[in-house]
Amino acid sequence: MNRRDFIYKTSIAGSSAIASPQIIDSLISTGKKPKSVIIIGAGFAGLSAAYKFVQNEVSVTVLESRNRIGGRVFSHNPENAAGQVIELGAEWVGASHERIISLCNTFGLILDNNQFETDTSISGIHRKDGEWEFGTVMNEFWNKKAALWKNMTEKEKRKLDKTDWWRYLSNLNIDEKDMQIRELLDSTDFGESIRQASAYSAFSEYAESSEKNEMDLKIRGGNGLLAHKFSEAIGIEKIKLNHTVKSIEQTNRKGVKVICDNGSSFEADKIICAIPTFSLLKINWLPDLPSRTYDALQELQYARIGKYPILFSERFWQREDFDMITDTPAHYFYHGTKGQPGQSGVLTCYATGDKGEVLASIDKKRRSEIILEALAPAFGNVKKYVQEEMMYYWGQDKYSSGAYAFYGKYQRFDVMPTLKKSFMHCFFAGEHLADWQGFMEGAINSGEEAADLILRGH
Ligand SMILES: Cc1cc2nc3c(=O)[nH]c(=O)nc-3n(C[C@H](O)[C@H](O)[C@H](O)COP(=O)(O)OP(=O)(O)OC[C@H]3O[C@@H](n4cnc5c(N)ncnc54)[C@H](O)[C@@H]3O)c2cc1C
Repeated sequence: MNRRDFIYKTSIAGSSAIASPQIIDSLISTGKKPKSVIIIGAGFAGLSAAYKFVQNEVSVTVLESRNRIGGRVFSHNPENAAGQVIELGAEWVGASHERIISLCNTFGLILDNNQFETDTSISGIHRKDGEWEFGTVMNEFWNKKAALWKNMTEKEKRKLDKTDWWRYLSNLNIDEKDMQIRELLDSTDFGESIRQASAYSAFSEYAESSEKNEMDLKIRGGNGLLAHKFSEAIGIEKIKLNHTVKSIEQTNRKGVKVICDNGSSFEADKIICAIPTFSLLKINWLPDLPSRTYDALQELQYARIGKYPILFSERFWQREDFDMITDTPAHYFYHGTKGQPGQSGVLTCYATGDKGEVLASIDKKRRSEIILEALAPAFGNVKKYVQEEMMYYWGQDKYSSGAYAFYGKYQRFDVMPTLKKSFMHCFFAGEHLADWQGFMEGAINSGEEAADLILRGH
C-alpha cells in the first residue's frame, strides 16, 4: 500500500484524522467541466495542471510572480563554464518517479544517470567510497526496512508520526558513529536535522524509494528544460510572468476574480493555487480562508537548504560520480556537472538547516574559506582551481522561504490533508501536498490531481 492509500484508508476507518479531503471531495462531483481556470504559480505543479487543461480544451491562464518559469526548478549556466549547466534547485529525478520520467519521454528529453558513490570526511579524515561502512545493526535495519514497512499495521505506521527519525533510529541501538553519518546523510534529504523530522515521513520515504533513494537521474541540459517543454505545450502567451497575485475574491455564482500587484485582474470559473504556503499566506482572501486552513498554513515549516556551487578549472576529484558528506558546516558535496563535457567542473556544496543558514549569512570570503577547508582532507589546497563561486540560499527565497516543506511530528495526518482541502472554487497543489513530498514528481502529481478534480466537475 502506498502512502496515499494509507492516509485515505486510515481516515476512512473512522480515526480522528481527516482523510485527504480532495479525495473525499471527489466522491461528490457535479460532473460539470469548467470553461476557464486560473493557475497561480508556474512551478511544476502549476505547469502540469495547465498542461492537463490544455489537453482537455479548457481555457487556462497561468500567473507567475517571477520573471521565469520553473519555480524551485532552477537550472543555471555558470558564467565562466563552457555551456555546462548546474541545478540551483531540484537536482535528481528518481527512478521510481514514473510521471516525470514519462513526461520526459513525451517531450523527448533525455535522462542521464546522476548516481554517486559516497565518500566521508569526518573529524578531518577522508574515507573513499568502499573504505567506510556502517556497523552491523545499521546495515541489518537498512536492508530489511522495506520488508518491515510492508509488514507494519496501519496503526503502527501512524504511531511513527508521533516520534522523530533520530529517536526512532537511536532506539534500535545503532552505533553512535553510524547515527552521526545517518544524520549527515538523511538531513540532506529532509533539509533539516532528523531530530525534527517525523519518523513516519522518513520511514515511508526510505522504505518506498529506489536503492539510491531517488538520487538517480537528471535531465540532460538541465531540469528546467521540462518547464520549457510544458510552456511550449501550454502556449507561452497563456503564462503571464511578473504577475504576483495579491487577492482572490470568490463568489458562489460568479466564480473567481484574481487581482495582481501590477493592477491586472483575471476572472475564471475555477482556480488552482500551486504556490508554497508562505506565498499563500500573503494573499488577501475574500472570503477569508477557513480558520483551520489558516492554522495549518502557519504550522508547516520549510527546509533551509543552501547550494554553494564552485566552478573549478579542473576536476581534481577525478571520479565523475564523486560525492562526499562532511561533519563541517559545508555538510555535503556532489559533482554538479557529472557526465558533462569539459575540463572544468562544478562541485556543489549543499548545506542544510543551521549550516545552510550560517553559510548564507557570513561574508563571501569566509564562506569560501569554510567550503575549501572542508575539501582539504580529501584534496589538499584547491584554491588555485577556483574559477567562479555561486550561491542560492532557499531559506530566503522570496516566494517559498525554504527549499521544500518539512513535516515534523504530528503533522502528516493533520496539516497535509487540511491544506489539500478545496475552498469554494479554489483547489490547491504543490509539492507540500503530495505523496512524493519534496520532489518534482510530487509537484507534478499534485498539479495533475487538482486539475483532474476540476475536470471531473468539482
Ligand atoms: C535546493 C533544492 C533541492 C531540491 N532537490 C530536489 C531533487 O533532487 N529532486 C526533486 O525531485 N525535487 C527536489 N527539490 C524539490 C522540487 O524543486 C520541488 O518539489 C518542486 O519544484 C516544487 O514545485 P511546486 O510547483 O510545488 O512549487 P514552486 O516550484 O515553488 O512553484 C510555485 C511558483 O509560484 C510562484 N508564486 C508564488 N507566489 C505567487 C503569487 N502570489 N502569484 C503568482 N505566482 C506566485 C513562485 O514564484 C513559483 O514559481 C528541491 C528543491 C530545492 C529548493
